[in-house]
Amino acid sequence: MLANLGRRIGRILFSGSCFLCRGEAAGILCTECDADLPRLKGALCPRCALASPRGALCGRCLTQAPQYDATVAALAYEFPADVLVQALKFRGELALAPYLGDLLSKCISGKTADCIVPVPLSAGRLRERGYNQALEIARGVADATGARLAPELCERSRETPAQAELPLAERAKNVRGAFHCPRLVAGAKVAVLDDVMTTGATLDEIAATLKRAGAARVENWVVARTLPPSPAY
Ligand SMILES: [Zn+2]
Ligand SMILES: [Zn+2]
Repeated sequence: MLANLGRRIGRILFSGSCFLCRGEAAGILCTECDADLPRLKGALCPRCALASPRGALCGRCLTQAPQYDATVAALAYEFPADVLVQALKFRGELALAPYLGDLLSKCISGKTADCIVPVPLSAGRLRERGYNQALEIARGVADATGARLAPELCERSRETPAQAELPLAERAKNVRGAFHCPRLVAGAKVAVLDDVMTTGATLDEIAATLKRAGAARVENWVVARTLPPSPAY
């Protein structure tokens, strides 16, 4: 119901003009801006969604296997995908949530999960922002995939500094032991949903937490994937 409400609000707020170029649009974006979004394509590692020859498991996932089993990402976290994600996250543009959820759902078709767990915000950040953007995106994805929305399966056990404020190398340590699954999820196939995946440290820690609670499989479903900088030649 809330997702439908979001769609309706989206139509009211953006009726007629594209969120990015302000040109004429039937939905949130005009056809051209939608077509130009940096969709992830090519051969990707099935586990971390970074480029990998012939879509094989990449070297990093082979040598340091993450706790999650797979990653589905709709977009590269580049302009203008970053504009949409940040407008939802920091500027309260909630009408973008169903749109981003829809982009993600289209990449998930055919895959199944028993439940969707949005990455939780810390209590302090939730108070400040008033909503969790991952939960807002997850509403539409749950509707589209039939997976149960289950935010209650992952809680923050302590406050941590925002990952984005830390150097990449410190992010795994920052989130270690930061999450808690309050009940057993024996045998469950769980999708953990977030807006952006950068190092994957948060998602790795949540996957470890869910597996300790009995999850059989944990996938990351993310709107946008940060790509490593291109090697300089
Ligand atoms: Zn446009
Ligand atoms: Zn990989």
